[in-house]
Amino acid sequence: MTQLSGKSIIGFRRGASDGYAIHAINPATGEKLCPTSYSASLEEVDEAAQFASKAFETFARVSGKDRAIFLRKIAENIEDLSDELVERATQETALAAPRIKTETARTCHQLHLFAAMVEEGSWVDARIDCGDSNRTPLPKPDVRSMLQPLGPVVVFCASNFPLAFSVAGGDTASALAAGNPVIVKAHHAHPGTAELVGLAVSRAVVECDLPEGVFSLLFGPGRDIGQQLITHPLIKAGGFTGSRLGGQALMKLASSRPEPIPFYAEMSSVNPIFILLSALCDRSEAIAKGLHSSVTLGAGQFCTNPGLVFIPHDRSEKLIDGLSELIATTAPFTMLTPGICSAYREGAEKLCRNPRVELIAEQKVNDTGSCLVGAALFQTDAIAFLEDQSLCAEVFGPSTLLIEYSSREQLIDCARSLEGQLTATIHADEEELRNSRDLIAILQMKAGRLVFNGFPTGVEVGHAMVHGGPFPATSDGRSTSVGTRAALRFARSVCYQDWPDDALPEELKNANPLRIRRMVDGRMTNA
Ligand code: NAP
Repeated sequence: MTQLSGKSIIGFRRGASDGYAIHAINPATGEKLCPTSYSASLEEVDEAAQFASKAFETFARVSGKDRAIFLRKIAENIEDLSDELVERATQETALAAPRIKTETARTCHQLHLFAAMVEEGSWVDARIDCGDSNRTPLPKPDVRSMLQPLGPVVVFCASNFPLAFSVAGGDTASALAAGNPVIVKAHHAHPGTAELVGLAVSRAVVECDLPEGVFSLLFGPGRDIGQQLITHPLIKAGGFTGSRLGGQALMKLASSRPEPIPFYAEMSSVNPIFILLSALCDRSEAIAKGLHSSVTLGAGQFCTNPGLVFIPHDRSEKLIDGLSELIATTAPFTMLTPGICSAYREGAEKLCRNPRVELIAEQKVNDTGSCLVGAALFQTDAIAFLEDQSLCAEVFGPSTLLIEYSSREQLIDCARSLEGQLTATIHADEEELRNSRDLIAILQMKAGRLVFNGFPTGVEVGHAMVHGGPFPATSDGRSTSVGTRAALRFARSVCYQDWPDDALPEELKNANPLRIRRMVDGRMTNA
C-alpha cells in the first residue's frame, strides 16, 4: 500500500507540511479522511515553476518515440495502483467502484492514445514549401513549419472526474504529449487520489530518465495557489474543468498578465435535446428511458448532462408521464462534495420558486445534513423560456427542464436563444432531420458535438471527438479537451526559413527520416 503524506510533489522532492490544511471528506458519511493534505507555499509554487521551466528545455526536445514510452509508463504505473485507487477514490467521491475502474481504464486509454499519436509523429502538421533560388523577380525562400510545445502548463483537476480529468487526465496527457511540463493543481475534494496518481506520474519521470520538473503536483486553494500558478511568469498555458465562475476568474487572470497566456477552460453547458414530432410519435417510451439514464448518470454530475429538453406540445404526454414515473422512483444520489450538493439544491429550489416552472416529478430526500439529493423533473413552455434567461442556467446534478413548444418558430427561437454548448442533440426520423436544416444550421453554431437520436453523456475518447464549444461551454470554442486533437491546444506553429537540412528538426528534414505524413509543396505525402 502506498503511504500517503498529503504533501505536494515538487519535481523530485516533497513539499512542506506546515501550510493550510486540506481535509478530504467522505461525502457519503461526512467523515474527514486521513491524511491531512497541506497547501503548497508561494515559494513552492515558484520552485515548481522554475523546475518546469528548466525541464522544458530538455523535454521539448525529447523525441515522439521517447515521449510515447513516458506516457505508456504513466499508464502502466496507474494500472498497478488500480485497487488502491478504487479504495481511495470511492471514499473521496462516493462514486461506485465500477465507475472508478472504468474511469481508470479511460485515463490509461487516453495516455495510450496520445502515446500512439506522438510515436507515429504526423500530428506535428509538418509543412514544407521548397525554395527556388531561380524564381524571378525574387528568389523563393525555403519555408518549413511544424508544431512545437508552448512551455510549462498548469492543469486544474476537475471534481467530477477524479481520474480522467484530474492529475493524469486529458489535459495533463495532452500537454505532456505535446512536449510541455505540467504542474497540476489538485482538487480539494480528492487529494488522496491525486497524490496516488501524482506519485505514479512522478515515478514515470524518474523511470524514463526525464528531467526533474516535467511534472509537479501542488495542493492548495484555487484562489491562492491556483491563481499564483496561472499568473506565474514562467507558466505558458492552462487547462481547467469546473464552474463558470472559477473558469472565468482564471481566464481573466490568464489574459490580463503582462504576458497573456492561453487558458482552456471547460465550464458550463446545458446540452439541449430537441425532440421533433416524428421521434415522439415513434419512440416516446424509449426516449423517456434514454433521457432518464442520461440525466441521472453519475448523479447528473457530467458536463454533458442534458439540462434542457425541447418537446412538441402535441403528443408530449406519453414521454412526460414515462419520464416522471422514472424520476419519481429513482433512488437518491450522494453528490461529490457538500459544495456541489448545495449548488444543486439551490438550483433546483430556484426553479421551484419560478412561477412559470412546474416541478412535475421528484425523489424527495429529507436528510439535508448529508450530500444526498433526489432527481427532479421540471417543466415550462417555450414562451416562458424565451422570456427568462435564468432558465438556461446549468443545474449541476440529476435534474432536467422540459420545454414544450407549440410551433416551429418557437423551436427555432429557443435554439437561437441558447448560449454556447458542448453538445446539442436532435431526435427525429431521417426525413424530418433532412427537413430541419434551419435548426441544424443554428445548432452547428452553438455546439461542439451534434448528436442524432442518442444522448450526450458518454464522451468517446478518440481522434475525431470534439469536447468543446463556444463560450460559456469553453473559453475557446476552437479547441477540444477530449481526444487527440486536445494536444493542439498546447502547441504553436514554428517556421524555419532557409535552414540547412542538418539543423532542421527531424520532422522537417528532406529525407523525412521519421516517415511522417507531411505537406510538401501543397501535397500530402509520406515520402
Ligand atoms: P470549481 O469551484 O470551479 O473548482 C475547480 C477548480 O478551480 C478547483 O481546483 C478550484 O480550487 C479552482 N477554482 C475555483 N474558483 C477559483 C478561482 N476563483 N480562482 C482560482 N481557482 C479557482 O468547480 P467544482 O468544485 O468542481 O464544482 C463546483 C461547481 O462547478 C459545480 O456545482 C458545477 O456547477 C460546476 N462544475 C461544472 C462542470 C462541468 O463540466 N460543466 C464540472 C465540474 C463542476 P479549490 O480546490 O480551492 O476549490
